[in-house]
Amino acid sequence: MAAEFQDERHLTIVGAGLAGALLATLMAQRGWSVDVYEKRGDPRVQGYAGGRSINLALAERGRHALREAGADDEVMAQAVMMRGRMVHFADGRVDLQRYGRDDSEVIWSVHRGELNLILLGIAERAGARLHFQRGLESVDFDARRATFKDEGDGSLHEVGFRSLVGADGAGSALRGAMRGAVELGERTQSLGHSYKELEIPPAPDGSFRMEPHALHIWPRGRYMCIALPNDEQTFTVTLFLPNEGDPSFQTVRDGAQARALFERDFADALPLIPHLERDFEQNPAGLLATLYLDRWHLDERAVLLGDAAHAMVPFHGQGMNCAFEDCVALARHLDAHQDRAEAFAAFQAERLPNARAIQQMALENYLEMRDRVDDDDYLMQRALERALADRHPDRFVPRYAMVTFSRLPYAVAFGRGQVQRDILVEATRGHTALDSLDWNALDTLVRERLAPLEA
Ligand SMILES: Cc1cc2nc3c(=O)[nH]c(=O)nc-3n(C[C@H](O)[C@H](O)[C@H](O)COP(=O)(O)OP(=O)(O)OC[C@H]3O[C@@H](n4cnc5c(N)ncnc54)[C@H](O)[C@@H]3O)c2cc1C
Repeated sequence: MAAEFQDERHLTIVGAGLAGALLATLMAQRGWSVDVYEKRGDPRVQGYAGGRSINLALAERGRHALREAGADDEVMAQAVMMRGRMVHFADGRVDLQRYGRDDSEVIWSVHRGELNLILLGIAERAGARLHFQRGLESVDFDARRATFKDEGDGSLHEVGFRSLVGADGAGSALRGAMRGAVELGERTQSLGHSYKELEIPPAPDGSFRMEPHALHIWPRGRYMCIALPNDEQTFTVTLFLPNEGDPSFQTVRDGAQARALFERDFADALPLIPHLERDFEQNPAGLLATLYLDRWHLDERAVLLGDAAHAMVPFHGQGMNCAFEDCVALARHLDAHQDRAEAFAAFQAERLPNARAIQQMALENYLEMRDRVDDDDYLMQRALERALADRHPDRFVPRYAMVTFSRLPYAVAFGRGQVQRDILVEATRGHTALDSLDWNALDTLVRERLAPLEA
């Protein structure tokens, strides 16, 4: 091992995206020596790659991690509150379905580029060394040397390491290198649907063109559109379509076909997207898939987190939140264990079942968003869910709330969510209104099946 990296407390992080920058901050704040290698150029110098307003929903897990790093205030200064789903029905009606009880239970739209800039600044101020335009090419795990390519001139640079952390996203190069050294049990499940991003600019007077404090959804059965607000009064619209069938990205291939689809299915959104044809034709279609690994680490030499370990479909808005929670957990395990292999194993043991749970819930949420939010059975179950949550606040917490507004392990939210769903389906079967339900029997059922949650 290179002498400089025998240091007990040195870490080499691959990727300075959302998770890499946050982990670098958390470790540097603990006094660790941290080097971060990022394939892209420094976005603080050349602007965020892409430059467009791509935004993400930030929830409590992510905010908790940002608070741990001292980044929450700076991030929240540019965040836009989203109180619920604004559902745009096919007949033109619009309805706000609140996410939580009140404005203490909301999610926040944050600009990916601005968030990354803030995190990079905080990481550097905490003492982490950031190396841009350095893409991981290969790793010699025996010699503990990693080779990075200078993305500017193509030159190769070898560095020694004690442990590598793969925060290099869904296409992780570190994961690729680990594959040659250990069986990871890797499977990728394609969703069979992809997405395109479009933009709603501000109105001529500079204001938002729709209600800003909501996540807008146009559910249309097998497909949907969503829109999230940005702090510069724009919305980023994401069109999700199947890869095959009609309509799909096979039948909607150019701007004119996109316009025809919007005229038919998203008529109220169409006048808000003046550059629909241009956006549709210029922006690439993003693939959606879930990545499962049975193993996230190679003894003490390498560990994966965030999308590199468990990329998921975006329908619960939790990929980044989960990645941030990973960072806090890994920092905690590195604090608690002298032996790094033990720390990485404990990290995997804690996080892998939780990642599996949120991956599954994210898949289920696609069906809910595109197909169920405008369905009568679903709306009645939601009404009952709210009523039971009011009657049993310590036991019956809607799954969405457990995932979004709490830090209960995802696996616990998933397990309790299944019990709750069974109760809702059984109780509403054959009923068309809540007032005909047997509330005493329901209260007993809740007490029998759901233990109180710890405060
Ligand atoms: C359409 C869409 C919408 C989403 N919406 C949400 C949402 O609302 N809420 C939410 O919580 N999550 C959301 N997500 C998920 C979220 O984007 C990811 O989970 C999150 O970005 C993961 O962070 P990461 O740091 O693991 O990976 P990334 O953010 O992908 O960062 C990886 C970094 O590694 C760098 N890199 C790549 N290869 C190399 C290499 N070889 N060497 C060095 N560096 C490298 C990349 O340049 C990048 O900077 C969404 C995802 C998609 C696709």
